[in-house]
Amino acid sequence: MTSSTVLDLHDLHLHSTVSDGSHSPSDLVDLLHDAGVNSFALTDHDNTAGLAEAAQRAGHHQMQCITGVEVSVTWERKSLHIVALNFDPDNTVLQDGLASIRAIRETRAKKIGSKLAKKGIHGAYDATNKLTTNGMITRPHFARFLTDGGWANDTQQAFDRYLGHGKPAYSSVTWVDMVEVIGWIRSAGGIAVLAHPSKYRMTASWMRRLLQVFKNVGGQAIEVVTGNCTANEINTCTGYALRYDLLASAGSDYHGPENPWIKPGRLRPLADKLTPVWTLWQE
Ligand code: AMP
Ligand code: MN
Ligand code: MN
Ligand code: MN
Repeated sequence: MTSSTVLDLHDLHLHSTVSDGSHSPSDLVDLLHDAGVNSFALTDHDNTAGLAEAAQRAGHHQMQCITGVEVSVTWERKSLHIVALNFDPDNTVLQDGLASIRAIRETRAKKIGSKLAKKGIHGAYDATNKLTTNGMITRPHFARFLTDGGWANDTQQAFDRYLGHGKPAYSSVTWVDMVEVIGWIRSAGGIAVLAHPSKYRMTASWMRRLLQVFKNVGGQAIEVVTGNCTANEINTCTGYALRYDLLASAGSDYHGPENPWIKPGRLRPLADKLTPVWTLWQE
């Protein structure tokens, strides 16, 4: 990148085939480049295995590539996502922590396989494992197995019939506590971002408690603009960022063309009164 490059289109929440996205890291970076994005973070679930490839391809296009990962955490028995940005990918505290979360995923995937077997759907764990690039199974991988086998018409139906909360193959999971995960991220020199706050469907009082704890333990930013959020949700999150003195992040949460309403880099602008999280590494 040259010093005169203007970094004006950021997308800090993206998935590749390293987790549940449908493009390889290189193909994703090509798509981002075509969309005019010039600064991005690949944030696969619980896994940084795609970062080196993404960074290499970003170099080819002279784009800025920030390290990223979307960590599955538990807070007060709720599953939440914390996006970590701009950390040292070789930090062992963070990498050991992510490995422990992938072990939880593996145990859960076997349980989901057993539950599907009870519904007469056999061999799901082994077949789903083959759909991954690296053995890390997410529920969208099970959804693909179920649609490929004709048990569901599409991903949404696979969640509605089998994989979603309270459905026959739903397996409740306790990830690592949010406070501990924020500690790992900070040990690795990274920034903890509360991902897509509006997706948790929390009451305002729960959200205020969450944000107070998040802030107290070192959380630094929240996603104000995400791929398919409404103007109302952006307003609400803008208010949270200002009230809790948090930096604002923006990311599409793009997974692939199967959700055509989400496009990489197509994001509404942050309000001028917010401080974008990228000021931390652009100053
Ligand atoms: P996991 O982390 O393995 O539980 O999978 C969570 C991922 O599944 C999320 O990141 C979404 O990409 C996807 N997902 C969650 N709920 C749904 C749903 N109802 N329909 C489609 N995809 C979903
Ligand atoms: Mn996902
Ligand atoms: Mn998420
Ligand atoms: Mn995501």
